[in-house]
Amino acid sequence: MTTSTVNKAVASALAAVMLVVGAGCGVQQQSAPAAVNWEERYPGYKTDFYEAVNKAQFDEWEIPDSDPSIGHFIALDRENNQRLLKLMEDAAQSAGTTDDSDTAVVGALWATGNDIEARNAGGFGNAQRFIDAVDEAQTTRDVIKAAIDFDRMYGYYSFFGMSLAPDSADASRKVHYLGPTDLGLTKEEWHSSIEETKTRVKLYEELMAQLWVESGASAADAEAKVSSVTKAMRDLSGSALDQADMYNAEKTYNVHTMADLEAVYGGAVPMDHVYKAYGVSPEDKVVVKDEGLWKATAKFLHEADLQLVKDYLKTCLFSDLGTINTHDAFLKVSENHRKRLGMEEAKPFDQNLAAQVNNWVPFQCGRLYANAYYDPKVEADIQSMVDDFLDVYATRINGLEWMTASTKKEALAKLDAMTARIGVPDVWPQDRYGIEVKTPEEGGLYIDNILAVLQADREYEFATKDEPVDGTLWEDPPQTINAFYDLSGNNITLLAGVLNSPFYSGDATEEENLGGIGMIIAHEITHAFDSSGSQYDSNGNLRNWWAQDDAKKFEELGQSVVEYYSAQSVRGMQVDGQLTLGENIADLGAMACVSAVAKQRGLDLRKVYAAYANLWAEEVRDEYLANLVTTDSHSPGKVRVNAVLSATDDFYDAFGITEQAAMYVAPEDRPHIW
Ligand SMILES: [Zn+2]
Repeated sequence: MTTSTVNKAVASALAAVMLVVGAGCGVQQQSAPAAVNWEERYPGYKTDFYEAVNKAQFDEWEIPDSDPSIGHFIALDRENNQRLLKLMEDAAQSAGTTDDSDTAVVGALWATGNDIEARNAGGFGNAQRFIDAVDEAQTTRDVIKAAIDFDRMYGYYSFFGMSLAPDSADASRKVHYLGPTDLGLTKEEWHSSIEETKTRVKLYEELMAQLWVESGASAADAEAKVSSVTKAMRDLSGSALDQADMYNAEKTYNVHTMADLEAVYGGAVPMDHVYKAYGVSPEDKVVVKDEGLWKATAKFLHEADLQLVKDYLKTCLFSDLGTINTHDAFLKVSENHRKRLGMEEAKPFDQNLAAQVNNWVPFQCGRLYANAYYDPKVEADIQSMVDDFLDVYATRINGLEWMTASTKKEALAKLDAMTARIGVPDVWPQDRYGIEVKTPEEGGLYIDNILAVLQADREYEFATKDEPVDGTLWEDPPQTINAFYDLSGNNITLLAGVLNSPFYSGDATEEENLGGIGMIIAHEITHAFDSSGSQYDSNGNLRNWWAQDDAKKFEELGQSVVEYYSAQSVRGMQVDGQLTLGENIADLGAMACVSAVAKQRGLDLRKVYAAYANLWAEEVRDEYLANLVTTDSHSPGKVRVNAVLSATDDFYDAFGITEQAAMYVAPEDRPHIW
């Protein structure tokens, strides 16, 4: 199963494309005029720019024993985790005595999360009812009925689940999305030929067996159940969309009615119960993202025996609840996670819990964080950078040789309508409804507090489903160290967490801020025009605004990006050019834009490129790298730097890169789109 949060994330995975990066260029700080001997400063930079520029950083960094990698984003994230942990401890001190609802909720979650004895005694808490219903079910339909109830109430789905998100055809309205069947792992992981990924699959199976034992099964029983369930997951995943297609609206925006669901499920899913539980009718619209998986699931539910369906569902459930029910289960998940990512030791419990609480009540934590650590004064500076980039982008689009006037007009309208969300939101989602949680003193249990949070969110989601999409609400909390482009909102979000050094600082040089947050901003803007964003118009609606020849040309250019990146690898692990296409287009477009801005301002491009190389400096364990190249839509840091710069004409002029250099790529092989 997956929670509604993840569900929504998937629904709007199409919607929100994240970048991971940052830093401003509005601050007019002059760089030191002293000439730099680049070969002396970065020996070997023409051979491997990324390694050369980041050498000093790499010498200093060591991957912490309890982390899969180290980089600036992760370092900032660790720092944030410590800050949040302290805020949570403070909140717990006053939970139960305060009128401040953020403090009360965060404090109660933190305190009950730390109450190990109560957690071990409490088991699955209020989720036990649902497990009992599965156990007592006499037919597959009854099992699915229980699954529907659990999804509707908390947003945890396995075989069946629905959530509401902006409709791609009309982004001002919400529509039901059918959740994709829980496959435990991704299709790519189930069928991977990479050794590290095969080990990862084995470890997943091992963990599932441990969680069955934790819930009372014998070791032999657990192994047999997991063996048949994972076989079913692997089989079903064969019918699922490739990850690379998850961002392609042509493949994921499949419009149906609820009656269509009924026809395909043909009795395997009790649709009368669906209508009642979600308050929908047969003629209501539903979007199915993964048609192949949907149909394969229907077939599976018809053919599989009752016991297998029960075991499958419970495996999903144990997996989903493994970190929030007993502390014993949590330790098993944590240890397995350590092995899967090749870490020396598991993260300390308090850091893990802080990350969890931050995940369950992100905006409550976010407001406490913003009050303590965010200075809204940076907003004007960031907004002026955004405006500058939008101007340069418009000029660049106007100058494109491959695009005709009618398409340019639409692209410029989209650019013109784009807005930026900077720092912290004006409207906080938790103010829309109340959440009832209990402290340990009030008899509170961690899992039940989390279920209460999820239930309140689901009640609100369905109570407001006929209301227009609320554009004031943000998808992501401000403390997150990231930035996003939202397809349906046609806006970029630059969260408070990313508006920090080394991405952005009022003390940094203009070049540093441009290579940092400047690249982040331009990257997010480019997402509006990547392989996925280009399918949506200025209102965030899925609409083909491309002249036919331009669309064909854009596709050809995209193909050149796929080929260029498919030839890249890191430590023998090859980049998937198709999976990473959208992100690579965003990086390439951002670099073209940032180079243009730097030249306009008469800045030293070499310093901008060095700052950019630093942005993606990272050291990654092999196990984690294998996971990333299989499942992450971003290219590894080294590729984001070297491949992007080798495709940037200005890079050659700035550094005098010639054919003899390893960084050299022939002009006709450099992909250019924007
Ligand atoms: Zn991105």
